Amino acid sequence: MKPGSRAVHAGRHPGRRESLAPPIVQASVHVFDDLDDYDEVAAGRSPGHVYGRNSNENTGWLEAAVAELEGGEAGVATASGMAAIYVAILALAPRPVPILFQRELYGTTIALLREDFAPLGYELRPADFTDLGAVERGLPGAGLVISETITNPLCAVADLDRICALARDARVPVLVDNTFASPTLFRPLEHGATAAVHSATKYLGGHSDLVAGVAVGSGEFVRQSRARSIRLGTTLGPFEAWLALRGLRTLALRMTRHSANSLRLAEALAGLEAVDRVHHPLLEGSPWQPVAARLLPEGSGGMLAFDLAGARPAVQLMLGRMRLAAFAASLGGVETTISYPEITSHRGLTPEERLELGILPGTVRVSTGIEDPEDIVEDFVQAITAG
Ligand code: PLP
Repeated sequence: MKPGSRAVHAGRHPGRRESLAPPIVQASVHVFDDLDDYDEVAAGRSPGHVYGRNSNENTGWLEAAVAELEGGEAGVATASGMAAIYVAILALAPRPVPILFQRELYGTTIALLREDFAPLGYELRPADFTDLGAVERGLPGAGLVISETITNPLCAVADLDRICALARDARVPVLVDNTFASPTLFRPLEHGATAAVHSATKYLGGHSDLVAGVAVGSGEFVRQSRARSIRLGTTLGPFEAWLALRGLRTLALRMTRHSANSLRLAEALAGLEAVDRVHHPLLEGSPWQPVAARLLPEGSGGMLAFDLAGARPAVQLMLGRMRLAAFAASLGGVETTISYPEITSHRGLTPEERLELGILPGTVRVSTGIEDPEDIVEDFVQAITAG
């Protein structure tokens, strides 16, 4: 099956007289006939669920679906994207090792590395992953590589084919946060990554109504990740898992529309005098376009950013004039939303650190929704050019 069909069917195949749509099995514990019966399920020899912190019916279906979409052997669903990243790092690097990571990783991921892993003895090696020389220099002795498919907010695309090949030669596992692309546009495991993680809060769920995460990879990676999630108590609840799977069913359709809309908006913004620069991986003239066109031939999803001339006051004015797009510090929903990295995702950085990453006082991030493209473009154009 192609990814679009897989998104519709993966993870649950209702049998005779079962409901076509999955039920919500809102329970914390299951009942067993006898000791042997319990033992069978607890040891994983028979399918089933014992206790809600370990697993539940709805997370089981969601995990199977995302694993199938990503081409992994298995998956584990967690209470948030951050929980998925946490357990995935612990599964791949249970003891302190040097971690080579893309310096533009999501801010809380960097905070996790700095505040929780570094004090345990993990050495942190941030690098510009669009510079393969920097990756090569960071690899010797490293125990883990962490990258994102598309960076936040400036939408750079590193050459994950080459990075995974370099890491494979150095025998270092690679963890890819695939949140911005989603598995209908990019599947990290097919490009040599060891494991992939998602904030399912974003495109997988797709409707801005849940917080969840998923990690996928080999059976052993998922066993290790799940064991940590059970001990930490970060298992996803049944209702959130049900919502995420419901959202996932339309993933391919949404990603196609998000991709077309973001490129259309990027092109329109690039023509405005008040916009200094547009950051979209597939926009003609983007430094990331050649790599992005190879890795993301079907589109790069809904994310883009632009630098507004006039800095913060101009951003404030624009926000006040927006009619359709909302100022909301998340992404990946059906609605077009705007974020201002200086005070949202990158507020923890100093102005110098932001500048080093290319985030300016006029940088605006857009998560393009699935509305009609004319309406999105018109909304931004009028808000930026009015007055
Ligand atoms: N990874 C990326 C790329 C993100 O953008 C986010 C959240 O914005 C996360 C991980 C964390 O996900 P969550 O908020 O679901 O914990």
